Amino acid sequence: MIDRSELLDYCDQLLDVAAWNDYAPNGLQVEGKPRIQRVITGVTACAELIEAAIDWQADAIIVHHGFFWKNEPPTLTGMKYRRIARLIKQDINLLAYHLPLDAQPEFGNNAALSEQLGLERVIPFGAMRLSLAGELPAPIEAPDLGNILEQILGRTPLIVGPADKVLQRIGLCTGGAQDGIVEAAQMGLDAFISGEISERTTHIAREEGITYFAAGHHATEREGVRRLGLKLAGHFGLDVRFVDIPNPV
Ligand SMILES: [Zn+2]
Repeated sequence: MIDRSELLDYCDQLLDVAAWNDYAPNGLQVEGKPRIQRVITGVTACAELIEAAIDWQADAIIVHHGFFWKNEPPTLTGMKYRRIARLIKQDINLLAYHLPLDAQPEFGNNAALSEQLGLERVIPFGAMRLSLAGELPAPIEAPDLGNILEQILGRTPLIVGPADKVLQRIGLCTGGAQDGIVEAAQMGLDAFISGEISERTTHIAREEGITYFAAGHHATEREGVRRLGLKLAGHFGLDVRFVDIPNPV
């Protein structure tokens, strides 16, 4: 069992939280009990994840997508009230790490996907240096890269843009980073992988001649928070459980 402050200090340092200007607060978002042993990790602080934490008598939840996003109403009403009231009544801490967890160079969402794809000579690029670009060990056809992504993520990607090219120089940024395709095209990459897709993405991919893989926002962002949990279990001896609340998007 550790003090909440120890957990927060360790995460702040591990994730270099101070370096980021994010769309939501990183770190402790909802305060619960001061001592922590059981931690649930998950992608999004949805009601189902909160109930799973209550069932397991968790002391804290750590997520990638927490609350209090810029531009959302600041009031605690409706769905947001129900989620936060449940946490407060059960005395459960909620910690959230967004961009710092995408970017963490060892186990973050982008580093994890890059590692799973076996990318070599990996460099950061794009807005906030958040995206990664690297080379596959050997060139492959677009449908084959789609199959590899399906094996890694358990979800069939949507592929747009050129399908008849061999791909080797790959860019990626997990989640809702579909507009990163513009910078990936400027870099001359063969393909770009993110989670979501917009209508415009198809036309950008076709006209810039870069193959785009929409591999799932949820599917591409499970690994960072899961690996963070493993790290915390190893470092502090905490009981950590990753709970996957399926989401097809
Ligand atoms: Zn996300």
